[in-house]
Amino acid sequence: MHAIEVKIRRPRGRTVVRKTIAVTGGAGFLGSHLCEHLLALGHHVVCIDNFDTGRHANIVHLFGAGEFDLVEHDMVLPLPAQLPRFEQIYNLACPASPRHYQRDPVHTLQTCAMGAMHVMQRAGHDGARVLHASTSEVYGDPDVHPQSEAYFGNVNPVGPRSCYDEGKRFAETLCTDFARQAEVPLRIARIFNTYGPRMRADDGRVVSNFILQALKGEDITLYGDGSQTRSFCYVDDLIDGLVRLMNSDANFSGPVNLGNPAQITVLQLAELVIERTGSHSPIVRGPLPVDAPRRRQPDIAKARAHLGWSASTDLAEGLDRTIDYFATQLACPVPQVDTSFMLERAAPSEDAALQG
Ligand code: NAD
Ligand code: UDP
Repeated sequence: MHAIEVKIRRPRGRTVVRKTIAVTGGAGFLGSHLCEHLLALGHHVVCIDNFDTGRHANIVHLFGAGEFDLVEHDMVLPLPAQLPRFEQIYNLACPASPRHYQRDPVHTLQTCAMGAMHVMQRAGHDGARVLHASTSEVYGDPDVHPQSEAYFGNVNPVGPRSCYDEGKRFAETLCTDFARQAEVPLRIARIFNTYGPRMRADDGRVVSNFILQALKGEDITLYGDGSQTRSFCYVDDLIDGLVRLMNSDANFSGPVNLGNPAQITVLQLAELVIERTGSHSPIVRGPLPVDAPRRRQPDIAKARAHLGWSASTDLAEGLDRTIDYFATQLACPVPQVDTSFMLERAAPSEDAALQG
């Protein structure tokens, strides 16, 4: 089955060639923003998700916003054969917060490894271009600072974070080798800590934890002495970077860091959240998680040079938008949206049936 190319004239006179694009993990935090962005550009978007950490509430507004299809499917299994031919596949399916990826570490590894394999196989079959979502966690607890793409990392292969870090490293290798062998066009984004509306309240990440604690007047849980650093990127900037990377010329290869190089300590983040929310929450100390990276800051020279990309939202502005989102959620919790009436429940493919 071949997608028909339809030219769509978008507002402000921009013409885009309509593509059929798959977004695995499209019901999650980043994936739902990406689906929204691609639909606004006039593309046909197929969201593929098993709703492990994704939510129907993140995407329910996308039905009717354009040509949007939802397929419930676990990427550990081969993609169903009856899907349309894709021209691009964004592979985002994987739980991203330590709390969630450590809940079932073997399944996280399977998602990283087999999910990447199934995306690449499908791309080879369809002639699609792939953008694989990797992570700054491939650098582990880095000895080199800031981290450029040339740094090979410092990762514990058998710690509690390893299912994610090593899974993502394996996926980079698999995608790269598959791309070389089968000539599948590939982009790899190494995404640094990203925050914004639609983060899950229960995912334990620092931005959502601190904002919710501040808004509820609860203790702000600072792990360690707060001197560890992170560099936080607002979601809209990151999505812009992903789309630019996917559509970039093939005149460069290898992974590309996407993140905001503005680095702060976690203690400074706690103080900033208290200031922006006007909260009186006290900061209380807790133990630092095992193998937690001490510092993290992207070197984005490659993204600047090849994509003309850098993040433009400063932390205070992005936090204000995220605080507004969580304040609204607290006042009016996300409804349990049932989109099953719109769901293409993926029938297992023949391969999956054979495996099963
Ligand atoms: P998220 O947990 O909100 O979204 C992940 C999505 O993938 C969810 O909708 C989940 O249901 C789906 N999923 C998980 N396992 C699946 C499987 N086996 N089959 C099908 N769907 C599955 O996380 P996010 O923050 O949106 O992250 C998206 C991607 O970006 C992930 O690959 C993550 O590793 C990467 N990333 C995110 C960040 C960040 O700061 N948010 C940083 C680095 C990398
Ligand atoms: N952190 C914290 N309090 C929290 C949650 C996280 O101090 O309630 C710290 C955590 O130990 C780490 C940093 O904030 O040093 C970022 O944690 P997160 O889980 O958001 O991302 P990651 O460690 O994967 O970069």
